[in-house]
Amino acid sequence: MVRKRWFTAFGIWLMMTAGVSAGPQLKALIIDGQNNHDWKATTPVLKTILQDSGLFTVEVATSPPQGADISRFKPEFAKYDVVVSNYNGDPWSQRTQQALIDYVRSGGGFVSVHAANNAFPEWEKYNKMIGLGGWGGRDEKSGPYVYFQGERFIFGRSPGRGGGHGRRHPFQIVVRNREHPITAGLPKKWMHAEDELYHRLRGPAENVTFLATAYSEPETGGTGAHEPMLFVITYGKGRVFHTTLGHSAQAMKSPDFVVTLQRGAEWAATGKVTQKIPQDFHKE
Ligand code: ZN
Repeated sequence: MVRKRWFTAFGIWLMMTAGVSAGPQLKALIIDGQNNHDWKATTPVLKTILQDSGLFTVEVATSPPQGADISRFKPEFAKYDVVVSNYNGDPWSQRTQQALIDYVRSGGGFVSVHAANNAFPEWEKYNKMIGLGGWGGRDEKSGPYVYFQGERFIFGRSPGRGGGHGRRHPFQIVVRNREHPITAGLPKKWMHAEDELYHRLRGPAENVTFLATAYSEPETGGTGAHEPMLFVITYGKGRVFHTTLGHSAQAMKSPDFVVTLQRGAEWAATGKVTQKIPQDFHKE
C-alpha cells in the first residue's frame, strides 16, 4: 500500500517535471494554400500567435494551388491536438474530408478562422462542424440565420443568402457567455481593430454555444443585428472554436484576436483553458 502510494507520487512528480522541461505540449496544424484572403501573410501571424501561448508547436500543411491536383493534399490530422483552418478553396478528396471528420468526431480540436467558414458549402458534415458559414451559394437551405436579440439568440428561418459584410471598421465585441472557459474572465465588451464584421451567416447551427457578438451597424452597410463573432460547436467527441474575425494580418494583430485565438485553440485541443488573461487586455 505504502509502496503503491509512493509510486503514484513519483509518477505525478515525473509527469510534472517532464511537463515543465519539455516545452510546448500541444501540437497544432494550420491548413492553408487556397483562400480568397492573403493566406501567405496571415498564416505566419496565426503561427506566431499559437506559439506565443507557449502551449503549441505549430506545423503548416499547404494545399496545392487552386485547380491543381488536390488529391495530393492529405494532412495527417490525427497527429495533432488542434487543426486551425486558414483554408477556403477547392473541395478536398473524399479521403481527406473523411480524415478530418473522423479526427474531430473522435475527439480532435478544430478552429475555423474567418473565411474558413466560406469553404465547402456543399460538404454537409463540414458545415455541421463549423455551425455557420457564408457565401458559396449558402441560403435558407443551408440552415437558419442566427443573430442575438433581446437577450437570446434567434434562429431566423426567413429566406435569403448566407454571408455578407459591410465596410471594414473597428467595432465592439460583446461577450454573451461568461461561463465558457474561452470567455471566462474576459471583460464584458471591448473594441476590436478594423476588420470585416461578418453578417447573416447560415448553417446547421447544431450543438453551438455562442460566446460573443458584434453589432452590425446599418451606417457601415451592416444588418442592424447583433451578429455572432465567436462560438463553439461540439461535434461528436470533438470541439470546434469558430472565430469570424481576422480578415487580414493587421486585424489578426488586434489583442483580442490574439487572446481569443489562443484560448479558443487551447480549449479546442484540450477542453480546458489554462492561460491567464493578459493584464493589459482591453478594459471594460
Ligand atoms: Zn475577409
